Amino acid sequence: MKNMTLANIAAACGGTYHGNEEDQNKEVLSITTDSRKAEPGCLFIAIRGERVDGHDFVDSVFEKDALCVLSEQELPEAKGNYILTESTLQAIKDIAEFYRQQLSAKVVGITGSVGKTSTKEMIASVLSEKYRVLKTLGNFNNELGLPLTVFRLTEEDEIAVLEMGISDFGEMHRLSKIARPDICVMTNIGQCHLEFLHDRDGILRAKSEIFDFIAEDGKIVLNGDDDKLSTLHEVKGIAPTFFGLESGREICADELVSKGLRGTVCQIHTPQGNISVHVPLPGRHMVMNALAGTAVGLELGLSLEEIKRGIEKVEALNGRFHMIEHNGMLIVDDCYNASPVAMMASLDILMDAEGRKVAILGDMFELGENELELHAGVGAHASQNAIDLLICVGERSRHMAEAAFEGGGCGEVLSIPTLDALLKTLPKLVQTGDTILVKASHAMHFEKVVEKLQTL
Ligand code: ATP
Ligand code: MG
Repeated sequence: MKNMTLANIAAACGGTYHGNEEDQNKEVLSITTDSRKAEPGCLFIAIRGERVDGHDFVDSVFEKDALCVLSEQELPEAKGNYILTESTLQAIKDIAEFYRQQLSAKVVGITGSVGKTSTKEMIASVLSEKYRVLKTLGNFNNELGLPLTVFRLTEEDEIAVLEMGISDFGEMHRLSKIARPDICVMTNIGQCHLEFLHDRDGILRAKSEIFDFIAEDGKIVLNGDDDKLSTLHEVKGIAPTFFGLESGREICADELVSKGLRGTVCQIHTPQGNISVHVPLPGRHMVMNALAGTAVGLELGLSLEEIKRGIEKVEALNGRFHMIEHNGMLIVDDCYNASPVAMMASLDILMDAEGRKVAILGDMFELGENELELHAGVGAHASQNAIDLLICVGERSRHMAEAAFEGGGCGEVLSIPTLDALLKTLPKLVQTGDTILVKASHAMHFEKVVEKLQTL
């Protein structure tokens, strides 16, 4: 890893080096916090987790020829080099910040309340048409995941597309310090993490910390249809590029024709010209994500033809509107996570389905004091969309069921208290020809619903 000698690493995190003098000038070959992934020449960072303490694995990583261990405790018995530092959790951030600045890759940092991962996939798909791109794997978007992603960068990577997620003030400031984004993208300001950030203005302020360490010649790409983001006319002397479906956006789309669950065909308009694109994943929000991809693509010099190709190649991720055909049913696995905005967006897509429309929706967490009203709002939306069978699972979702029932638009509404109770009755509830949306907060474990459906 470029310039990542043990001496530089110790300096970057204010640690003290204990070990072989000559090794201090050797560069580490990789960095890991997982002892199982330790390899010859690596730096192993010992993190004290809730269940496991990395310091218990020091011997095993030296057996695998690790070059050095970063530790919070003295290791008088160590069978190799180690750097002693006050907090390895702080050190991992400091070292990532140092490493990022050794590399010439441009960084695209993505944040927002919902759609970060989906937008990251879209932007990476677009940029891969021209550049060698490294992207966040899965959801490694926090103060531990972001450094680990930065450590995967190599000198060959031209662009890093990094997802940045937070739940409190100050976190984004620290993530921005590590990432030093050249381009900042914000998808929207929704209602996630209200418990810590109070209201949408709080969320806007917390997420805006992403600009704290933007490059001097940096660019900003924002969802102009979001009422909060559209107020950001100038940030640190930078005029943002706004994308959106409403008129007046610099990058916008019209003539949207839904292809049902197979996505949307639309015209994308840019200052450089127009393209006709088939966004292969369903939902208006995916068109929004394609617009974000277009805006970033243009900032980084892609042609409209390259942008179109990149958008058309994007693939669904497990748990994010991933469609599975099984036994005459179409299962829409959207169970990775949920918020009111995302749930309503998914219900809108379900409207385009053929056959009976079934929605199995579970509790949404971290919504703050209005959580019951927000659940009821989703129920009212399901009623407006005339979902044929709405199954609401969990204590909070009872309010969803009640609102849907009062709305009167759904064919049938059920409220089921627990996941176990649902799994037992599920075989009686669904049938061949159904399109079944499965969605809830991650902690509801709705992947079990998807698994069960695939056994029927
Ligand atoms: P997390 O905070 O868990 O990292 P995220 O911000 O990465 O979430 P995604 O995983 O991309 O969000 O998407 C969450 C849900 O929101 C999915 O169900 C997806 O279909 C929907 N979604 C994707 N993009 C958008 C968008 N631009 N606007 C609203 N909803 C979206
Ligand atoms: Mg994510």
